[in-house]
Amino acid sequence: MGKLEGKVGVITGGCSGIGLATARKFAAEGATVVIGDLDEVNGPRIAEELGGLFVKANVTVAEDVEALFAQAKEKYGRIDVAFNNAGISPPDDDSILKTGIEAWDKVQNVNLTSVYLCCKAVLPYMLEQGGGSIINTASFVAIMGAATSQISYTASKGGVLAMTRELGVQFARKGIRVNALCPGPVNTPLLQELFAKDPERAARRLIHVPMGRFAEPEEIANAVAFLGSDESSFITATDFLVDGGLSNAYVTSLESDFE
Ligand code: NAD
Repeated sequence: MGKLEGKVGVITGGCSGIGLATARKFAAEGATVVIGDLDEVNGPRIAEELGGLFVKANVTVAEDVEALFAQAKEKYGRIDVAFNNAGISPPDDDSILKTGIEAWDKVQNVNLTSVYLCCKAVLPYMLEQGGGSIINTASFVAIMGAATSQISYTASKGGVLAMTRELGVQFARKGIRVNALCPGPVNTPLLQELFAKDPERAARRLIHVPMGRFAEPEEIANAVAFLGSDESSFITATDFLVDGGLSNAYVTSLESDFE
């Protein structure tokens, strides 16, 4: 028996990176998967591979988000897990000195407003069925300051953390758990794109990871499956860090320290 046997999970941003690895993990653990993403090229193929449903949705548009959860409920009868994960990290979001209001707004909409919309859309279904698990993707950058700033991204993820805490507390006695997932740097297209343009920034970030490497998306997916499952039944309102020790390191050791 998989740890998500019989559950229905909705995943936004499920066509790439962390969301895709999680969709595959959920299916392997017995869940029925519904993917909401902009990517209508890959979405239908991925849903078919997993025996689930793809709904084309822009997570910044309230009607799209409502339709995503409504279709999941209509087709499968319930929604047990919502992984609100779609996010962007565009290059024009940079130091506050360089970042204009358009770049700021775009990132706030995709990374933060989308989480508000998804939680607002799914909570009535979870209240009606008397339980559920919501996992909102934040980031380690919401917990630590970086000199190599992406100001709107960082602020958006801080908003995700604060909103998640409040929802976790508000709905705890209704059987609904709400947790924020805080990955460290993960080897996905989002990060590859950012660092391909700036290898110095990539090298600089790796210095701070005690494990000396980026996470693989599957390692993050394992944590999401845990948070979505009943194994995490006493965990809510957390900043759930999966960061290779990054947020607790002052200096990291190097291979040469052990020679
Ligand atoms: P990714 O770029 O590999 O995948 C993002 C997915 O979201 C894509 O399938 C894309 O089509 C979809 N998407 C983007 N905008 C959308 C929109 N408006 N509506 C619907 N779908 C949309 O990214 P990833 O690295 O897997 O990141 C997933 C989440 O994890 C993001 O919230 C990101 O901020 C967060 N995160 C990533 C890292 C990392 O190092 N990769 C670290 C911490 C947190």
